[in-house]
Amino acid sequence: MPPSNTDPFYEHVRSEVQGLREAGLYKTERVIVSPQGATVRTADGREVINLCANNYLGLSSHPQVVEAAHEALRTHGYGLSSVRFICGTQDLHKTLEARLARFLGTEDSLLYAAAFDANGGLFEPLLGEADAIISDELNHASIIDGIRLCKARRYRYRHNDLADLERCLQQAAADGARFKLVFTDGVFSMDGTIARLDEIRRIADAHGALLGIDECHASGFLGPRGRGTHELRGVFGQIDLITGTLGKALGGASGGFTSGRKEVIELLRQRSRPYLFSNTVAPSIVGASLAVLDLLERSTALRDKLEDNTRYFRAAIAAAGFDIKPGEHPIVPIMVYDAVKAQQLAARLLELGVYVVGFFFPVVPKGQARIRVQLSAVHEREHLDRALAAFAQAGRELGLI
Ligand SMILES: *Cc1c(COP(=O)(O)O)cnc(C)c1O
Repeated sequence: MPPSNTDPFYEHVRSEVQGLREAGLYKTERVIVSPQGATVRTADGREVINLCANNYLGLSSHPQVVEAAHEALRTHGYGLSSVRFICGTQDLHKTLEARLARFLGTEDSLLYAAAFDANGGLFEPLLGEADAIISDELNHASIIDGIRLCKARRYRYRHNDLADLERCLQQAAADGARFKLVFTDGVFSMDGTIARLDEIRRIADAHGALLGIDECHASGFLGPRGRGTHELRGVFGQIDLITGTLGKALGGASGGFTSGRKEVIELLRQRSRPYLFSNTVAPSIVGASLAVLDLLERSTALRDKLEDNTRYFRAAIAAAGFDIKPGEHPIVPIMVYDAVKAQQLAARLLELGVYVVGFFFPVVPKGQARIRVQLSAVHEREHLDRALAAFAQAGRELGLI
C-alpha cells in the first residue's frame, strides 16, 4: 500500500496491542478441534478434561439437541435473510418465545441474536430521563452498556449489598424518579454468587420499584425445576424483566431473550434496536432450543446430576486443601490470589490433562487471582476424580496446598 497520512492511526493501534502484551493482559485463544464435551481435543491432538465451558447441562453436543437442529434445517432452512418484522418470523420463533415465557414464569418473550443484545436493547425503549435504574456494581458488561444507552438516571449499589440498594432507592425517590428499576445478575460469573432475589424483591416492592434480572448463568439448572434464580429464591412469577442466553446451559449455540409482561414485550418488539435492526435467530438454533425445553420440562435429571457433581467437586477440592469461594453454584472459584501462580497452575493442569483458565486483574480485583472451574452434567465421576488428582498434584508442586 502507498504511504498515507493514516499511518499514525495504524501505528497507534499496534502500540495499543503491544501495551496489552506488556501489561500481561493480552488474551490468546486456544483452538479446539472437537465438539464441546466432558473432554475436548486441542489443536495439538491432546484430549483434555474441560472444566471451563458454560456447558452446564451438557447440551452443547447432546444427540437430541443436535438432531433437532438437523430437523429444523431440513424443515425450515438454513437462514431467513431478514429481520423479524420483514420476513424473518417463522412458526418456530413464535413457539419458542411462548415456551420460554412458560419456562420462566412470565407472559411473553422475544428473541435476540445474543443476550448481549437483549441487555443492550432493554433499557432505552422502556425508561427515560424521568426514571431511575439501580444496578449492582458487578453487573455484566452488556447490562452496563445497555444502561449507558438509556437516558434514565443511574444509581450503582455495592455488590450484593442490600443496605446500599435501599440507600440508592431512597436517593432515586428523593431525586423525583417517576419509575424505578432495580437490575441485577441472577448469578455473578466470577464468584458464582447467587443474588438474594427474595430480599431484593421485598425491598423493591417497599419502594415501588420494578425488578429485572439477567439469568445467563442460571436458566436451565438453578432451582428445583431448573427455572432459574427466581425459582431457587422462591420468587418465581414475581420478576418484572428477565434476560438470558441460549448460549450457555440452554444449548450453547447462540441467541438471547427478554421475557416479561405482555405489554413490555410488545413495546420492545416495536422499539428495541438490536431486535429491529439485526437478523433473526437461525431456524436450526430455534428448533434445537425447543428440544432443550422439551428435555428440561420432562425431567430434572440433568440439573440434578449437575447439582451432584457440584457438591462432590466442591467438597473434594476443599478437602484437598484448596481455598474456594463457598457456595452452591457450579462455578467454583479456586483462589490462588497471585496472578503469576494462577497462570502457572492453569498451565500445569493443562499438561496434566485438565483444561481450566486463570483469571486475574482486571477481570477480577488485584490480589484475587483464581482458577474458575465450571462443572457440567456431562462430567462423570471419573472425569472429576482425574481432575481432582491433577489439582492435588499441581497444587503441591506449586506450594498452594
Ligand atoms: C454470557 C453472558 C451474557 C452474554 O450472553 P450472550 O448470549 O453470549 O451474548 C450476558 N450476561 C451475562 C450475565 C452473561 O454471563
